Amino acid sequence: MTRSRLRVGVLALQGDVREHVRVLTELGAEPATVRRPQELLDVDGLVLPGGESSVIDKLSRAFGMQEPIRAAIAGGMPVYGTCAGLILLADRIVDGIDGQQTFGGLDVTVRRNAFGSQVDSFEVDLDVPAVTGGAVHAVFIRAPLVEEAGPRVERLAALNDGRLVAVRQGPLLGTSFHPEVTGEDRFHRLFLEMVRERIG
Ligand code: GLN
Repeated sequence: MTRSRLRVGVLALQGDVREHVRVLTELGAEPATVRRPQELLDVDGLVLPGGESSVIDKLSRAFGMQEPIRAAIAGGMPVYGTCAGLILLADRIVDGIDGQQTFGGLDVTVRRNAFGSQVDSFEVDLDVPAVTGGAVHAVFIRAPLVEEAGPRVERLAALNDGRLVAVRQGPLLGTSFHPEVTGEDRFHRLFLEMVRERIG
């Protein structure tokens, strides 16, 4: 069955859920907030928002969402993580809080708060060959960095010094920055393409 509108979940336990819902709506998708395992069954893809990864991790375990999300990832569901969401997609994290867990799936090591505290937030224009239409204006807020990436990981964007800030591995997409807060919609467009590919 083909639907005209793609149904994309946004994990809504904590973080900038509304911003993602807005971008997805503007792109013609049908976003749905996801808090319960049941709600995961009704979506074709999932966005993990920015926020605080350790809080989203704890809440996802409290809400019984960790296993269902891991199973969805293992089953090939397209997932896009921004900032905290990228941390949650990483197989390995550095500088997590004690006992912090991730959903995993992306064969990367991500360093949490890699640029220091809140005041170290910054904006930069990135060259991203995977998206057309010029430089991506990227906002980094207590952002993570991808320190190590396995052979199946596509390197989509790096800072001038070469440090990785956007990656893709099959149906999994992750950015250290927050396109959803700047009106940048090209990563969400790319993600919706991935969802469309997946459902055929
Ligand atoms: N520092 C946050 C964390 O560890 C991420 C910040 C963000 O999502 N803007 O999850």
